[in-house]
Amino acid sequence: MQRLLLGNIEVYHLCASRFRLDGGTMFGVVPKLLWEKVSPPDARNRVELACNCLLVRQDQVLTLVDTGCGSTFTSRELEIFAFDPAHSLTKALAANGFTPDQVTRVVLTHLHFDHAGGALEWVDGRLRPLFPRARYLVQRGEWADALQGVSIMKSSYRPEALLPLKASGQLHLLDGDTDLDGQLSTWVTGGHTAHHQGLVVRAGSQTLVYPGELVPTRAHLRPHWNMAYDMFPHHTLTRKKVFLDQALAEGWIIAWDHDPRVAWSRLVSAGDHCQAAEFEL
Ligand SMILES: [Zn+2]
Repeated sequence: MQRLLLGNIEVYHLCASRFRLDGGTMFGVVPKLLWEKVSPPDARNRVELACNCLLVRQDQVLTLVDTGCGSTFTSRELEIFAFDPAHSLTKALAANGFTPDQVTRVVLTHLHFDHAGGALEWVDGRLRPLFPRARYLVQRGEWADALQGVSIMKSSYRPEALLPLKASGQLHLLDGDTDLDGQLSTWVTGGHTAHHQGLVVRAGSQTLVYPGELVPTRAHLRPHWNMAYDMFPHHTLTRKKVFLDQALAEGWIIAWDHDPRVAWSRLVSAGDHCQAAEFEL
């Protein structure tokens, strides 16, 4: 179990999925000669990734950030992405002593399958929300783009797996940066998708940020190490720099959405870029 206590807020790391994606696409313009040293590929050029979700507890309010890949995959997809069946969101919740019906809010950074796939489950041949009491918070523009398949990758969005969310009445669309309760807020980063959002947790003097795909792993801290999956690469490049400069200056904790080894880090300066460092509170 990995847990942080920030004032009155508990933050749990939940590994919902482990899978593999092509290393070239994970690191965009970076030559393989460089990225393979920090993220060794398998024989099929795939690198190891996790889907790291956060569970944020404030008394009776339980906010889940992202949901991993879920289990709605064909056997061919299971093989392509090398899914590790040992991991699931419900297993990760249970390992920390929680059940899906306790979750009151689900914040989705964006609706690509590896972030929103775990939002719903199959019951009697139909998809229904995995979290029966939760409000699902999605940027309005992201919802529209997902339904229309606005993506450079054919398989990123699965509209048929999202529509039951709307039908459930649990979908709540956000318009831009949104303060959820004075301590938690969402923040639109753009870059990866036009309306991609992160989550900021503020508790006393501590700030923890889940930047989602803006900085998916520690290896993506270098300025030009960005994913080929990004819809707006230059926006990622510039927005990431502004974000990391502020995170470094203000001592923020960063929670990584895809890092296969580490849940969260603080930043230290390393010349022209930042590096991740372990920390104690
Ligand atoms: Zn994505």
